[in-house]
Amino acid sequence: MSADMLLEPAIETVTGDASLPTRVDVAVIGGGIVGTAAAYYLAARGLAVALLEKGRVGGEQSGRNWGWCRQQNRDIRELPLMVASMRLWEELGRETGRDLGFERSGLVYVTKDAKELATWEAWIARAQSYQVGSRVIGPAEARALTPGNEQDWIGGVHSPRDGRAEPWLAAPAIAAAARDRGVTLLQNCAVRGLDITAGRVCGVVTERGRIAADAVLCAAGAWASMFCRRHDLDLPQAGVRSTIFRTAPAAKVTPGGLVTPDFTLTRCPDGGYIVAAQDRGRLDITPQGLRYTRQFWPMFRSRRNSLRMGIGRSFFSGPEALAGRWSLDAATPFERHREFAPPPDTAIVAPALARVTRTYTALAGLRAARVWGGWIDSTPDAVPVISVVDRLPGFYLATGFSGHGFGVGPGAGRLAADLVTGDTPLVDPAPFRYARLVDGSPLVPPGMM
Ligand SMILES: Cc1cc2nc3c(=O)[nH]c(=O)nc-3n(C[C@H](O)[C@H](O)[C@H](O)COP(=O)(O)OP(=O)(O)OC[C@H]3O[C@@H](n4cnc5c(N)ncnc54)[C@H](O)[C@@H]3O)c2cc1C
Repeated sequence: MSADMLLEPAIETVTGDASLPTRVDVAVIGGGIVGTAAAYYLAARGLAVALLEKGRVGGEQSGRNWGWCRQQNRDIRELPLMVASMRLWEELGRETGRDLGFERSGLVYVTKDAKELATWEAWIARAQSYQVGSRVIGPAEARALTPGNEQDWIGGVHSPRDGRAEPWLAAPAIAAAARDRGVTLLQNCAVRGLDITAGRVCGVVTERGRIAADAVLCAAGAWASMFCRRHDLDLPQAGVRSTIFRTAPAAKVTPGGLVTPDFTLTRCPDGGYIVAAQDRGRLDITPQGLRYTRQFWPMFRSRRNSLRMGIGRSFFSGPEALAGRWSLDAATPFERHREFAPPPDTAIVAPALARVTRTYTALAGLRAARVWGGWIDSTPDAVPVISVVDRLPGFYLATGFSGHGFGVGPGAGRLAADLVTGDTPLVDPAPFRYARLVDGSPLVPPGMM
């Protein structure tokens, strides 16, 4: 690891507000891509909204990801929401006049594995009616789309209308735009719990005091399950730790995203690349993970080859540690972890760089500028929860984005806003209902991730 490599992403900061409102129509917990988008769309309907973030906007998953905005290979249950999100990314850029780094720069997947290719082909056949514009490519086209890396690919898929946005910019930009629309943005302001009267949510208790609210939307990412447990709501959620790195600017070998058997490359607006090794993901054993072993077992069995397992710090601290039933009058785990940043596994950097530069001679001397870790929260069927919570009127959830919530974030925030206000939903919300995870319904296994 080079001495000048930084161990954090460079997330843009956004100015917030200083004083707490006493009453709002909707309190949104969590300043990730989903919470910021929900706040923006709620304010667009003239509602008074407080957006409450325990650390800084974009500090957790939404500022630590690859930035892919992808319809290709997405679980079909999420596809209508993703199609709508692609449109909303463009609309948000225009409407807010802010740079989200969104571009339809295309995605290319290439392979030498017939089984993998067959899976992609089957997905494209199923996705036909959604007109996502992806198509299967043969060996010649796969080589033509990977100049400098022409191997004996048997084929792949090309998804020219997919793309990426900039994780370091997007959530902060949407939060700033929400603020322009009147949202009160409070950072370093953890929500300790819900204010509940006669079985109905009537506000939130924050570390700085109470805010009365008619509705509360919990978009707390990896912390949502712990938050819900404090109020006797079960939410099966488990996390995987992942390390990625971003390089210094270098020659352009691909315009957008490229998946090969050895690595994944994403071209960034500054000319650098986000690099992910294909053997990614560490599953830390945690008390919350053990609690939901039964629900996650089928997913674990199907993915165990791409996961490493271990016990680390996250057993004792972080979103999946034991938290007990905390008092709302004293500091909570949320304040103790303003920004949950799992330590990156820096040992992956050198071998991944070697693989990339061995393949692309044009990238000789490629240097990692920043490396960081991220905690990916998942549900047992790898489909998010965007839903009312029937047992607790006034409470809504938008969480569990299972490693692909950045691209779908604008649509998820908009759908959550629709549910809160009772407006016609952007898409059918049925696949995202909370109850499926807790009412004994047989869960549909995860589609492609
Ligand atoms: C390495 C990596 C690569 C990924 N690549 C992609 C990709 O290419 N494309 C894609 O679509 N997705 C990707 N993802 C997944 C994506 O980043 C997430 O699904 C998405 O960002 C989730 O957004 P969110 O708003 O739900 O959660 P988050 O961004 O985690 O936001 C939740 C926020 O809630 C705050 N919070 C929690 N509890 C409280 C509380 N009690 N009070 C106040 N605030 C609270 C947290 O501080 C946090 O900021 C990746 C993730 C990782 C880690």
